[in-house]
Amino acid sequence: MKQITIPAETIPVLEEADICVIGGSCTGLFAAVRAARLGAKVVLIEKHNCFGGAATAGLVCMWHSIFDITGKKQIIGGLTFEMMERLEKRGAIGEFRKGGPHVPRIPFNSSELTLELDALAQEHLGIRTFFHTFFSRPVMAGDGTISAVIAENKSGRFAVAAKFFIDASGDGLLCRAAGFPMRRAEHPQPPTACALLENFRKTGDVDLKALIERNRQRYPDLPCGYSWGTAVPGSEDVYMLSATRVLNCDCMEADAITRAEFESRRQIRALTSLLRETVPDAHVTLLGLPAEIGVRESCHIISEGTLRGKEMLAGNCYHDTIGAGTYPVDIHGNADDSISFLHLTGSRQLFRSRTLVREERWLPEGEFLPFYRIPLSCLVPRGAKNLIAAGRMLDADGDSFGAVRVMVNLNQCGEAAGVAACCALNSGKAITEVDGAEVRKTLNRGGSLVPDV
Ligand SMILES: Cc1cc2nc3c(=O)[nH]c(=O)nc-3n(C[C@H](O)[C@H](O)[C@H](O)COP(=O)(O)OP(=O)(O)OC[C@H]3O[C@@H](n4cnc5c(N)ncnc54)[C@H](O)[C@@H]3O)c2cc1C
Repeated sequence: MKQITIPAETIPVLEEADICVIGGSCTGLFAAVRAARLGAKVVLIEKHNCFGGAATAGLVCMWHSIFDITGKKQIIGGLTFEMMERLEKRGAIGEFRKGGPHVPRIPFNSSELTLELDALAQEHLGIRTFFHTFFSRPVMAGDGTISAVIAENKSGRFAVAAKFFIDASGDGLLCRAAGFPMRRAEHPQPPTACALLENFRKTGDVDLKALIERNRQRYPDLPCGYSWGTAVPGSEDVYMLSATRVLNCDCMEADAITRAEFESRRQIRALTSLLRETVPDAHVTLLGLPAEIGVRESCHIISEGTLRGKEMLAGNCYHDTIGAGTYPVDIHGNADDSISFLHLTGSRQLFRSRTLVREERWLPEGEFLPFYRIPLSCLVPRGAKNLIAAGRMLDADGDSFGAVRVMVNLNQCGEAAGVAACCALNSGKAITEVDGAEVRKTLNRGGSLVPDV
């Protein structure tokens, strides 16, 4: 391949901060807010025009229960709960004050979330946000610490110097560029583009699965896989449909993700054409597409302690627990149309072609796991000094990732990353030396409900 050499360049250091966060999903923003509340000066770099990541730009408008599966004990508080309360005041979220064994789904309005995340960020004067700004690479100090990051936006290329960095880019871009070892998932969960449809519910009792299978020859672009969706709270007619699936896509590869954008939109085009043809009176209208395809899984850091499904689902009490969850292990097949769920109630289900093909117990009859715990160590890149990762790049095996990958869990990881960064800065320690118990205590003092170990 032909190559060019870029001449050496001198660029401005636009900000000198305590902490620099790359990526502004709830994970990244919540990290920034928790750190700012502890007095840190924070810079946040986000490539889109808003916070929220998959929840806003990706249209993924569903959180899950903040209770254990008995429904009696609230296990998730902090900024997730604060944001739920804010959305409630705007009539923009479903019921979140009740729990239960089947992990209640909590739909919200993504656009309203965008507004509330804006407000949250602007209430914290210690946070400077750069939207429309793309992180490109770190500047390393000789001893393996990161001294600055380089970013680009309309104004040009610049640096942000900081004492500590939080990688909340989803893909672990900062960790990778800083040279920390990464691994690709063996069977990464496939990406999906969601869509906003008006009048989808007026298609009534059309069996989507049967309709798709009957018409696949006429519409070869029709999606395979599991489809789900939700009415957008506050609206009579608008529905978020998550029905596409791009198989065998390496979401870290630029050509592959470009093809995936095309393919997922072809799937949406075929599906909406078929719905209009089948139920013309419903007037199904395509109202919105995501700013980018939703990536479920790309690559993972190699951390101080891989999160393993076997231990997590045995109810392991990690000494450095920083969060808890109840979402089931939910694995979308990457090479076929399957999906499997392992519920904390003790049952396991496998669906193929949207049909339940197997159901069995993974726990003895009558037994269940009230919730699982998430440790800090799976966010800490092995050997890192002033860097922590929060988000779907966390170090988890297939089973544990299937469960922790949802937003109510990753939000807690973000908050923990912000607090852990402050603990490291205040104590002068490397992130690998930070005491998990201190992080947990600080989280809980700030409104989190991290369970004791
Ligand atoms: C289709 C789909 C359905 C899902 N359904 C659910 C569900 O119902 N409920 C649920 O809780 N979870 C669901 N998930 C999972 C969940 O949405 C994700 O795992 C989670 O949102 C990932 O959060 P994150 O912060 O790691 O990454 P992201 O949300 O991807 O955020 C990464 C952020 O970093 C920014 N960024 C990336 N690179 C750069 C860069 N170079 N410079 C600057 N900024 C950058 C991005 O713009 C983005 O804002 C679903 C996922 C998909 C794809």
